[in-house]
This record gives sequence, structure tokens and C-alpha cells, in this order.
Amino acid sequence: MSRVYNFSAGPAVLPEEVLKQCAEDMLDYKGSGMSVMEMSHRGKVYDSIIKEAEKDLRELMGIPDDYAVLFLQGGASTQFAMIPLNLMKNHKAAYIVTGQWAKKAAAEAKKFGEVDVVASSADQNFSYIPDVSDLDIPEDADYVYICENNTIYGTEYFELPNTKGHILVADISSNFLSRPVDVTKYGVIYGGVQKNVGPAGVTIVIIRKDLIRDDLPESVPTMLKYKTHADADSLYNTPPCWNIYVCGLVFKWLKEQGGLEAVAVKNEEKAKVLYDFLDQSKLFKGTVQAKDRSFMNVPFVTGSDELDKEFVKATEAEGLVSLKGHRSVGGMRASIYNAMPKEGVEKLVAFMKKFEEEHAEDVNNA
Ligand SMILES: *Cc1c(COP(=O)(O)O)cnc(C)c1O
Repeated sequence: MSRVYNFSAGPAVLPEEVLKQCAEDMLDYKGSGMSVMEMSHRGKVYDSIIKEAEKDLRELMGIPDDYAVLFLQGGASTQFAMIPLNLMKNHKAAYIVTGQWAKKAAAEAKKFGEVDVVASSADQNFSYIPDVSDLDIPEDADYVYICENNTIYGTEYFELPNTKGHILVADISSNFLSRPVDVTKYGVIYGGVQKNVGPAGVTIVIIRKDLIRDDLPESVPTMLKYKTHADADSLYNTPPCWNIYVCGLVFKWLKEQGGLEAVAVKNEEKAKVLYDFLDQSKLFKGTVQAKDRSFMNVPFVTGSDELDKEFVKATEAEGLVSLKGHRSVGGMRASIYNAMPKEGVEKLVAFMKKFEEEHAEDVNNA
């Protein structure tokens, strides 16, 4: 067996300890005589799995009792519709567009009401987070929407927008559990888990309970109401049982790491190794304004498509995989989520140094 350093943006690297635990539990989960994939979601054993997962998540993120935690399906993309469908009363919302995912969310919301794009960084290919300290937010907007970490472009909010009293809704798919968070600042905070938390198939929605409405129109599909899932403790229908169990193992792993404060310190250290190298490199350049650089997704380029291709190919032979950038940025992207060990980043940087030395001629010609 040989594991690679996997820099994929998602589905992405999971902690080795968690994968080993999955393997150990596979045929016989804690004496039940079956795997978690095979057991009833209504049984006692599964009940304790999902309850414990929720309890550990609440502890990690400090989620207050007046917030519900929902384990849903349909990916983060389904939330692009569920959010306006459940939160729009005045049929108006403010969106801050900082990349493809925010753009998609805004486009979906338009199906349900008026969307006011109150800030955007489209003018510079989403390479920064706009100033969000004093936005012109319509008085009657139902909420303000952000994508807190832009997986494709590698930007991250380090200060939340001044919503001027409006509810804040945030997509945290790619920075979920990467650092401490003050849940009380949000009305809804959600993410697909396949970037930083678990296997694809679970979307976690954390929603302030007073925003869960029971006065939605009859026409709203049952499965798309937050109330349906909140009332049934995420067991209205069959949940993605095994995937939630794996998320639960990851929560335990994060607690063992010392919780989100400790995890954030590690993530910052890891990102620094890469950004420090990029800042002084003559060949590789980061694509994002320094103040907004994500701790999770690090895009970079050489400036030559040919060299980029050669680099990606060469890294694969070294066991450094999935470094090809998203087509809308080009070049490379290193996703360095919680489960990426610092050694992985150090090995990548060492290889970048070597590649740069070997291509000194290209640097001089550039
Ligand atoms: C990947 C991603 C999505 C889409 O997630 P799905 O679960 O595939 O629908 C949405 N938002 C962000 C920030 C993402 O990184």
C-alpha cells in the first residue's frame, strides 16, 4: 500500500486514522455484526451514531441550543435553492459574488425573488474579497449571502460583512471546521462535507431555529423545507448513514487534535510554508491578493501554460497528486485541508524549489 499526498479540491484527503477506523469497523461495527452501511437508520445503534456526531459537531463549533444542526443530502448545490425557498419573505436578497459558487447561488436565488448583487470581485477574476464593511444593502432584503471560502479562486473572508442587521447566510463548504467560528454571527451556515469533513453525500446545515418556518406555501416540496428535517432530527427519510458516521469519526479526530483553535494554528502554519515560498519564487506566483489568501485552497501559476503542464505531470510521478488548477484560473491549485499533513506541503515546496532550479533558463527568459 502506498498513499499519495492528495491535493484534490474535493472529494479530498481524509485523515488516515479515520480511514483505518472505517476499515476496522467495516464488517462488524462495535459488535452489531454488521457494517454501518447495512443497518437500519431507525435502530438504536445508528441513533447513537447520528446523535453523537451532532453532539461532537456542536462541541467543536460551539453551536448554541437555539441553532438546529441538519444532516441533509443533495450537496451544497441544493442549498442554493433551499435558502431562498425557506428564507425569502420579501422575495429579495443581497448576494456578494466572489466566485463561481456564489454566482451559482445567486442565479438559483433569482428563481425565487429579486437578487441584489451588492458587491463582486468579478472585475479581477475573483482574485480578492471586496470591501464589505459598508455595503448598500436594501432595507427589505431577507438575508445577505456569502461564500466564505472560494474553493476555485483561493480567497477567504477573514472579516464578515457588515450586514446592517440582516441575516447572514454563508457557504462554508471548503473551510468547514478549518478554524474557530462564531456561529451566532450567522442565520444559516452550511456546507457540503466532501471538501474538509467527510465523504461526498452529506450537507450540513446549521440554522437559527427561529428561521425555520412553518408558514411556507403548500407548493414547497416537503424535502426542501428545513422544518421537515428539523422536526425529524434529520431522519425524515433515510439519511446517508455511512457518510454521517465517517463525519462523526472526523469530528472525534478534530477533537483529539485539540479542537478548532489547534487545527487553525496547524492550517495557518501549513499555508505559510506554501505562501512564503510563492512570495519569493522567481518562477511560481500566487494568483490572489495577499490579504485574502485562503488557508485551504492555494492557486498558483508559472505564467506559462506549457510549464504548468510539465510541472503537474512531474508532481504526479512524485506522489503529489491532483494539483491541476481549475479551468477558470488555470495553472495549479494545492488544496491543503485539515487532513493534509504539513509534510505533504513541505514535500510540495521542496519539489517546487527543485523544479524552479531546473528551469532557471525559463525564469530568465520570462
Ligand atoms: C464544492 C462546492 C460547492 C458545491 O458542492 P456540491 O456538494 O457538489 O453541490 C458549493 N460551494 C463551495 C464553496 C464548494 O467548494
